[in-house]
Amino acid sequence: YGRSNMAQRVSASDGGNKKTSRVRVAVRLRPYMLKQDEKDEGPCVRGLDSQNLEIINWRNATETVKYHFDVFHDTQTTQQEVFLSSVKPILPHILQGQNASVFAYGPTGAGKTHTMLGSPDQPGVIPRAVREVFNLVKAKNEDEGWDYSIGMSYLEIYNEKVLDLLSPNSQDLPIREDKDKNILIPGLTHTTISSFADFDKHFVPATLNRTTASTKLNQRSSRSHAILLIKVVRTQRAAPRRRQTGKLYLVDLAGSEDNRRTGNQGIRLKESGAINLSLFTLSKVVDSLNSGTAIRVPYRDSKLTRLLQDSLGGSAHSVMITNIAPEFKYYFDTFSALNFAAKSKLIVNKPFTRETVAVPVLPVKRAREEHEAGGSGN
Ligand code: ADP
Ligand code: MG
Repeated sequence: YGRSNMAQRVSASDGGNKKTSRVRVAVRLRPYMLKQDEKDEGPCVRGLDSQNLEIINWRNATETVKYHFDVFHDTQTTQQEVFLSSVKPILPHILQGQNASVFAYGPTGAGKTHTMLGSPDQPGVIPRAVREVFNLVKAKNEDEGWDYSIGMSYLEIYNEKVLDLLSPNSQDLPIREDKDKNILIPGLTHTTISSFADFDKHFVPATLNRTTASTKLNQRSSRSHAILLIKVVRTQRAAPRRRQTGKLYLVDLAGSEDNRRTGNQGIRLKESGAINLSLFTLSKVVDSLNSGTAIRVPYRDSKLTRLLQDSLGGSAHSVMITNIAPEFKYYFDTFSALNFAAKSKLIVNKPFTRETVAVPVLPVKRAREEHEAGGSGN
C-alpha cells in the first residue's frame, strides 16, 4: 500500500512540475499576399512537414535555418484545424477547476487576430472555444451532481496599464493575489453569460470599441495585449458543496516587431518600451518553464505575466500560437518570432528554391548546429 501511494505521489508531482508546465508551441504561417510584397520576391519561409519549417538564412542566402515545433500549421490550415489541434483538447480541464491560456504571438500583420478572433465567415479560436465550453457544460451529466456557471471578463494591457474593456473609461486596475495564490483584479467587470449569443452581446461591442480607438490612437491595437477571460465555476449540489473555479485566458498579444527599427519616437517609443517589457518578460517566463530548470520564473516583472501567473506554467495548460508571414518585409521580425518560439534550430546548407528568383545550386555540405544564427545582430 505505502509503496504504491508513494509511487503515485512521485509521478503526480513530476507531472505537475515538469510535463504539464511546459508551454506547447505551435507556429502558423499565413498565406503569401502579393499586395504585402511590392518587390514580388516570393516567400522567404516555408513549411516542411507538420512540425518543421525553414527560413532563408540572412547571413548566407544559400543556406536555410530549420526549426522544429510541437505543431506547424501551413498556409492551407483552416481555422477549424487550428482549433481542433491546439485549443479544443485543453478545454475540458476548465470544467474541472484547472486553468489554461492560449496566446497568439507574432509581428503585426502575421495573423494573430485572424487566429484568435477571425471573421464571421472564418471564426477563430475565441468564438470556437466559447461555443465549445458551453457545449461541454451542456453535455455534463446531471447525475454527477455539480452546477456550472460561466462568466467573462475582457481587458487590455496597454503601456503596462490594465484597462477593463467591458467598462468604458475604466482606470488602471491593480492585480492582486489571494491567500490561495489565485490572481485577481478587484474592480474588473465580471459578467455571467448564459449562452454563446449572450457572450457575443458583450464581446462584440467591446471589441468594436477597441478597434475604433486603435485607428485614432496610432494602431493601439497592435501595441496592446487583448485578454479575454472565460471563467467556469462549478459547485457541488450536495454537502460539502465543494466549489471549483477554472479559468481560460485567450490572448491576442501586442505585435512582436521591434519598433526601434521602424523609427518610432516619443509616445510611440515609450509604448514600444512598455510592450517590450511585457513581451520580453513573457519570453523569459516561457523560456524558464520550457527549459525545466529550477530558476525563478519572473512572473512579477510585467503586468501580463503577473496576471497570467496562475494560468501559465504550474498545473495550467498553455498553448502559444506563433503567427508568421512569408513576405520578405517581415523577414527579421519572423526570424526573431521563430527564435522566441523555438529553443533549437539547425542551419542546413541547402538552397531555398524560390519561384521568382533563380538560386545557384550548391553542393550539400554537412549540416551543423549554430547557436548564434538568430537575427538579433541586425
Ligand atoms: P495581426 O493581428 O497579427 O496584426 P491579422 O490577423 O490582422 O494580423 O492579419 C493580417 C491580414 O492577413 C488580415 O487581412 C487577415 O485577414 C489576413 N490573414 C491572416 N492570417 C490569415 C490566414 N491564415 N488565412 C488567410 N488570411 C489571413
Ligand atoms: Mg491584430
